[in-house]
Amino acid sequence: MILPGATLGLVGGGQLGRMFAIAARRMGYRVHTFEPHPEGPAGQVSDREFNAPYEDLETLKAFAASVDVITFEFENIPAEVLQTLSSVTPVYPDWNVLYVCQNREREKNFLRDHHYPHAEFAVARSASELESALKKIGTPSVLKTADFGYDGKGQKKLRGPTDAKALWEEFKMPAGVLEKWVDFDCELSVVCARTRTGEVETFPVSENIHTNHILDFSIVPARLPEPIQMEARELAAGIATDLKVVGLIAVELFLTKSGKLVVNELAPRPHNSGHYSFDACITSQFEQQLRAVCGLPLGSTQLLSPVVMVNILGDAWANGEPNFTRLLEDPRVKLHLYGKSEAKPGRKMGHFCVLGSDIEETLLRAKALKI
Ligand code: AMP
Repeated sequence: MILPGATLGLVGGGQLGRMFAIAARRMGYRVHTFEPHPEGPAGQVSDREFNAPYEDLETLKAFAASVDVITFEFENIPAEVLQTLSSVTPVYPDWNVLYVCQNREREKNFLRDHHYPHAEFAVARSASELESALKKIGTPSVLKTADFGYDGKGQKKLRGPTDAKALWEEFKMPAGVLEKWVDFDCELSVVCARTRTGEVETFPVSENIHTNHILDFSIVPARLPEPIQMEARELAAGIATDLKVVGLIAVELFLTKSGKLVVNELAPRPHNSGHYSFDACITSQFEQQLRAVCGLPLGSTQLLSPVVMVNILGDAWANGEPNFTRLLEDPRVKLHLYGKSEAKPGRKMGHFCVLGSDIEETLLRAKALKI
């Protein structure tokens, strides 16, 4: 067990790292962050920040040597960076887990090989492969970049007959995954923690509403039948076990109009849709990540109150500083801001959680307070 007083290494310096560092420091751990850009959301609350490009092996090794265990908060880290770090200090989850989850082709192959429900897909690396993929999958479908996609970036929905050559030229990515369109009723997600000894604990299901591909509201408890929620949690626990995750994995799913669950995406880290746990669960996803990577027993994920999480995007700064007083005036709202210096449209700047006694009433208040 890595006990309080030890130093935790965090790769990636965004808001997920910031909230991990806050949870860690609350429990008496020290935190060192490795992040190419200085003074980021996590760096601001860390004991020490290492700023260097991911190619800088010397600084990577110095960072690894300064900590007792390493975890990460960001998916687009080259897997070799984690391999380098793990030659010095243990890294959780293992680089293999990141390697599978950071690329849609490998992720989809994993789901298919382990018989998890997923949208039918085909991979394309050229215009002619895209043509075959279109023949196999048809439309409506969605073409997604295999690497470096997030929040709907690098995605194109195909509604009808498509010219593969023109689309491939416009796509400009080395590899794409063409996915059958899923006619869904709602989107949901489950964050799951797993320890080195195989103990697994899932968080309550979050019902997610996206706007322009970006998470807008997370509603917990999800307004879905209990058996569906149980099934979603079991799927997440199975995936965590099959991937041998040590740490967290977030599983995003669709609930189809015919009542079936389909896994959409995996992320081996804390997840935006799990932020509600900071204010509404006995243990937050960030403390759970810490417990899992430090070899501590996992905490209870029990929900203490109905909650709706609302993201605050850079768009809210269009006419100057947003009016946070409205949020602060509600005694059952918890405001989180990430300390980012520049507000850009679509950039996640913060979030707030609205607590209440009834989920429908809480959602109404959250919608009224949305900024
Ligand atoms: P992703 O980047 O894969 O999480 O996709 C972003 C969003 O696009 C999802 O949250 C869905 O709202 C939508 N989406 C992605 N893939 C599909 C699909 N196969 N069928 C329907 N909607 C999708």
